[in-house]
Amino acid sequence: MLASGSRGNATLVCTESTRILVDAGLSGRELGRRLNLLGVTPDGLSAILITHEHGDHTRGAGVFARAHGTPLYMTSGTRDACRKLMRGKEIVHTYRPGYQFDLGDLRIEPCITVHDAADPVAVAVADPSTGLRLGIATDLGKPTTQVRHALRGCDALVIESNHDDAMLWQADYPSSVKSRIASSHGHLSNRAAADFASQLTSSRLSVVVLAHLSEETNTPELARSVMSRALRRQGFAGEVLVAGMEEPTPLLDLVELRRRAAPAQLSLF
Ligand SMILES: [Zn+2]
Ligand SMILES: [Zn+2]
Repeated sequence: MLASGSRGNATLVCTESTRILVDAGLSGRELGRRLNLLGVTPDGLSAILITHEHGDHTRGAGVFARAHGTPLYMTSGTRDACRKLMRGKEIVHTYRPGYQFDLGDLRIEPCITVHDAADPVAVAVADPSTGLRLGIATDLGKPTTQVRHALRGCDALVIESNHDDAMLWQADYPSSVKSRIASSHGHLSNRAAADFASQLTSSRLSVVVLAHLSEETNTPELARSVMSRALRRQGFAGEVLVAGMEEPTPLLDLVELRRRAAPAQLSLF
């Protein structure tokens, strides 16, 4: 995760030959700086996939795409809503929720969500050569059956854990903002995220990354403890990590995580 939170979101997904960003919610310059920190040259990015038009997911998309010639992928509704970011020089491809497509050697499975944006999606990113599957679901008003279905059987999940309910209602926000955040078109609380993730656990799942934490109405410790407790009840023995705004999380090697989680092979001799 290059960054995650209400000030900007961007997730780097790499195979040997394909490197994509899911969302580009930092400035173009900051996206480049953070990619370099992770050893990825900005010109080497294969594509940027946009989940919805909100600024914390698109801020640097146009600037970065123009500077580095990176193709942008978004739904037509999101493209229309992002018009102000574009100068007509970007390469823009549209995709449709519910229809999978390939980006290099990654398969993208976008699924519509009910967040308050033009055409928001959650995505599963699969690598058909290894069978590995990553689910990314932030900005979920509420997890629908479709999203639950789309993110089943993942090896890793990036899930929004936006706020603590009590902290939200005590916060110094106008009540209309509180209602919007807590609504079925807003953001998932720690409790709702834990319930959602509990429904997605399987023997394959080895890591859950908590994302899009509010800096005012949540803490990493609280979010992690609510999620860990809920997942442990499901027999989950993997890692729960928290992504934040200030610096990228270290790259997670899903091949290695799967190897470590696999039961030891018994020798026949
Ligand atoms: Zn949003
Ligand atoms: Zn957001």
